[in-house]
Amino acid sequence: MDSTGHQLSLFGDDPENALAFVQSLDELAREIRRCNRCPLAEERIRAVPGEGPEDAPVVFIGEGPGADEDRTGRPFVGRAGRYFDEVLAKVGIPRSGIYITNVVKCRPPGNRVPRPEEAAACLPFLWRQIELIRPKVLVLLGGVAARYVLKDGRGVGELRGTWHGPLKEAYVLVTYHPAGVLRDRRKEEEFLADMALVARAYRKLMRQRSQNSRPKEFGKGV
Ligand code: SF4
Repeated sequence: MDSTGHQLSLFGDDPENALAFVQSLDELAREIRRCNRCPLAEERIRAVPGEGPEDAPVVFIGEGPGADEDRTGRPFVGRAGRYFDEVLAKVGIPRSGIYITNVVKCRPPGNRVPRPEEAAACLPFLWRQIELIRPKVLVLLGGVAARYVLKDGRGVGELRGTWHGPLKEAYVLVTYHPAGVLRDRRKEEEFLADMALVARAYRKLMRQRSQNSRPKEFGKGV
């Protein structure tokens, strides 16, 4: 336990596998809602585990909940979330078909960037979500998600537009965070191009699923 009373080391020496006992997303969400492993627990109204189907082929990962998410307990429901919904509709991805979550599950005060120790405390939840869902594509929204998940400190401008990984058996695409696009509309064209790439992969994966073909056929050539 650290000096503020948070059990940052509760996941022990093997944080990637510390939640192997959790067997469903619902069970994991219960663990997240009662979590007190980092200081972000203190000011949250609600933790925001994420939402979407247990077998989503694509998982979108943002930075952390904002004020609206903190109030509702749901991811991507504020202004940036509404814009994200519009973009999903535009490229033809049903929000009900994808899983959406964040690097940290509790709101950083004032929407500041999550600190490395907060991300480290929370990432085991994300790793377990990915293991349970087993998506074929991860989409990292923004440089913070790229830094903590892909462990690549380059800017989004450098990382976007091409597939990375695989990471936990999923190919990884980095693009801008919808909130960043709202702040700087010059990024919108590239964001839409990246989302079109994701939509193409999503449709291919859904076709494969409906044809009962093997998901591992998905590759960098998509
Ligand atoms: S941000 Fe993550 S590690 Fe920190 S209290 Fe919330 S759920 Fe726990």
